[in-house]
Amino acid sequence: MIVTRHSAVPVSRSRRRALQWFAAGCGCAVCGSLHATLLDFDLSAVEIASKTWAVLGRSEYFDMDNGGNIVNVAFVEVPDGVVVIDSGPSKRFGDALRLLIEKTVPNKPILRVYNTHHHPDHFLGNQSFDASLIAAPQKVIDNISMEGNDFADNMYRLLGDWMRGTLPVAPTLALDADSEDVGGRTFSLFYLSGHTSSDLVIRDDETGVVFSGDLAFLFRAPTTPHADIAVWRTTLQTLDGIDKSLLLPGHGPSDPNGEAIAQTADYIDWLHGQLSEAVSAGLTMNEAMQLAIPARFEGLGVVRTEYERSVVHLYPALEDSLFPLIQIER
Ligand SMILES: [Zn+2]
Repeated sequence: MIVTRHSAVPVSRSRRRALQWFAAGCGCAVCGSLHATLLDFDLSAVEIASKTWAVLGRSEYFDMDNGGNIVNVAFVEVPDGVVVIDSGPSKRFGDALRLLIEKTVPNKPILRVYNTHHHPDHFLGNQSFDASLIAAPQKVIDNISMEGNDFADNMYRLLGDWMRGTLPVAPTLALDADSEDVGGRTFSLFYLSGHTSSDLVIRDDETGVVFSGDLAFLFRAPTTPHADIAVWRTTLQTLDGIDKSLLLPGHGPSDPNGEAIAQTADYIDWLHGQLSEAVSAGLTMNEAMQLAIPARFEGLGVVRTEYERSVVHLYPALEDSLFPLIQIER
């Protein structure tokens, strides 16, 4: 294991080998120029509120075509600089995001980068930013420190050269206040959970825009690798009660009327009900994966893929709770 100068997270031997391999490349001039041309994020910023821009990812799963550009990140111009919400899936993405910010908001320093949670599409671009400015709740920092390397390993397998040079960098600032002033703007901070064990929600108190991270999805199936469905359901009610003008979900378009929260609640309720019934009926995981998905969810991006992944994530715990082990005394 080594610890790099840029990383608070130890780098595993397997990924060090991967980094060396990717750094070496094939060495061929043709491949080199092809990669430089092809592996380029064409990021664009959409102004969703005054001086507030979203960079909207595709409603897809990670693949070699999208390079991992499946996530929403955002940035806000405040009086003295720029605040960034989430950094994307890789160093390559983070670098492209920095360039886009500099082009959109010229000559203003980046003052803060928030990480909403520890999933790889939301923090693996941290390396492109000054680590001393990156902030998250302590639990998110702990989760990144514990799981960052494994996430990065998996992303290298899924995305290959798109991930070149990416290292997991944990935030250095642990948040615990209800709000903070950044560059002359107040941001309210809400410490929630359910999608993961720690989900940070940020509200720009000037515009009323709420950045929900992956507590809310819109027109894209929710992901559940670290979900606690019962907690998530309660958290969505809390999120619904937060005063806001607009919500930017972690995935999907910005939402002025609460659709993302309602759609996410509807989906996770259905998912929990369907899988509980399947367990009670004695279906195997493979059989549960074949079950129908209601027509109202057919328009959600990658719904079949995410449903099948959710069976893997949620089935064992449901089996344990619905069929508890019985101790037989002899
Ligand atoms: Zn995400």
